Amino acid sequence: MMKKIILLTFFIISCSNKPVLVLNDASPLVDDDTAISTTTYNISVDSIKASITFDIRSDFDKYLLDVQNPINKTFLIKRFFPSLHDSSISMYENEIDFLGLNSRRFVSMNKNGNEINMKFSIDTLQLKSHIETEIKKLKDLLPIHYLFDKGGKVPDFSKITNKIILPIDGLSFPKRASRLPNAPRSYRSGTHRGIDFFSNWGTPVRSVADGIIIRSDINYKEMPANFRIEMLKRASVINRTPSDIFNELLLGQAVIIDHGLELFPGYRSISIYAHLSSIIPKFETGYNIKSGEIFGYSGNTGTSPSTKGTKDESHLHWELILQDSKGEYYFGQDLEYSELIEALDSLFIK
Ligand SMILES: [Zn+2]
Repeated sequence: MMKKIILLTFFIISCSNKPVLVLNDASPLVDDDTAISTTTYNISVDSIKASITFDIRSDFDKYLLDVQNPINKTFLIKRFFPSLHDSSISMYENEIDFLGLNSRRFVSMNKNGNEINMKFSIDTLQLKSHIETEIKKLKDLLPIHYLFDKGGKVPDFSKITNKIILPIDGLSFPKRASRLPNAPRSYRSGTHRGIDFFSNWGTPVRSVADGIIIRSDINYKEMPANFRIEMLKRASVINRTPSDIFNELLLGQAVIIDHGLELFPGYRSISIYAHLSSIIPKFETGYNIKSGEIFGYSGNTGTSPSTKGTKDESHLHWELILQDSKGEYYFGQDLEYSELIEALDSLFIK
């Protein structure tokens, strides 16, 4: 039986003479799960040519989709920004409107025996700058502004010598960028300042170092769902997360511990434990807590699922805040992903 084959060739042509793509591997231009029999690539500094060959009989509709949208978002972001971590890419691709994909132009189509050869061109320069602008917009989402911020300088986290313990025994920090400091939080026009330790509801939470408890919401009562929605809506007009909305509502049932000036020389430091499900009553404000002392249990208070009465999305949101005379900074602020992982690796006692 005659095998019908379609050969698709995609040309991605850059308008610039300067190299705009860093290409050192040949990843598929279409999702891996499409049933492609053979794929060949010809990748140079300013263009990508891909020939994709497949059997027309198996699932024509699916291939038709590939022709309409031949290059996936992950592939594009990866090529334009090779240093971005995979998890950041998957986070950004959901937030970015890929208008640029529509700038793909159909060039030609011809038949050669049993093969059909299609050519497209894409203005990668335009697309790159579009994606770059979108990512910059997401990165520039202002973090929580501080009441007394005078525009200080972010500390050099590598100079921090005192190690602390993890807030949950045996649970290392996550590697996904979306769960780490600097991740965008579009629902509140802000930036994630802390680490989301994903743990089951009711997991014991402990102090990361010696300190004094300065906030302990022992008698916390969850807010109504509509109130939370309404307050986020009212705050959204100023395009950032106001500190009161963050501290009073979004942290949920929280404990804050003051570690004084000893933990990180030159800075006052506090640690924040949010979304707790309960706090052991003796750990009230003013309690002198020791490193490793368990004071409460993880939960999801302050989150949308909690206001709806479910235990979904339970996790410990944990932050380490450093302050000096000029401002307030969160641990890991402004670090690139790889630097952040390195800094966190050296922060916690193994
Ligand atoms: Zn969080």
